[in-house]
Amino acid sequence: MKIICIGRNYAKHIEELNNERPVDPVIFIKPDSAVLLKKNPFIIPPFSQDIHYEVEVLVKINRIGKYIDEKFAPKYYEEIGLGIDFTARDLQSKLKAKGLPWEKAKAFDGSAVIGKFYPKTGFDLESLNFSLFKNNEIVQDGNTKNMLWKIDEIIAYVSQFFTLKIGDIIFTGTPSGVGVVKPGDVLSGTLGNNKAFMINIR
Ligand code: MG
Repeated sequence: MKIICIGRNYAKHIEELNNERPVDPVIFIKPDSAVLLKKNPFIIPPFSQDIHYEVEVLVKINRIGKYIDEKFAPKYYEEIGLGIDFTARDLQSKLKAKGLPWEKAKAFDGSAVIGKFYPKTGFDLESLNFSLFKNNEIVQDGNTKNMLWKIDEIIAYVSQFFTLKIGDIIFTGTPSGVGVVKPGDVLSGTLGNNKAFMINIR
């Protein structure tokens, strides 16, 4: 199983990090070892002093596919979820400045929180609210209508490069409001009106 992540998919998040608006989707991959095991806390790794949360809508692939046409993309997923793309922002900034790959900052162990999945039929994917709470205060409040690339466009785009397999998960990008975590913080996410995850930071 692989995790395909989209970067810079919400205009306000691009602004908050002073990034350029991309012409094509920004893509990176996390290995299966990045998945934070269920019920485990997230342990801040020793190589970063600036771990950020990024809440993102997730799509679980349920059919194998390559060069998927956008109009057939809905056939490739039945469930969506919510997760966190944990990012070592200090390390990522250094790598970005040198034009180096981001993997050390994005794909480390535990960096992919994958919450509960729900049937997509229960949601309006064109306009779906999702939120992240830190210690019960809302810190990120997104809506899929603000995605620069919609789920079906993302599937069409990424499948030109990577064969999508059953069980692969796509992280569709974070809205604005990203920020730092410290030991003792509790993060929880909601997708529409549904609880998706709760994570303790250590
Ligand atoms: Mg992200």
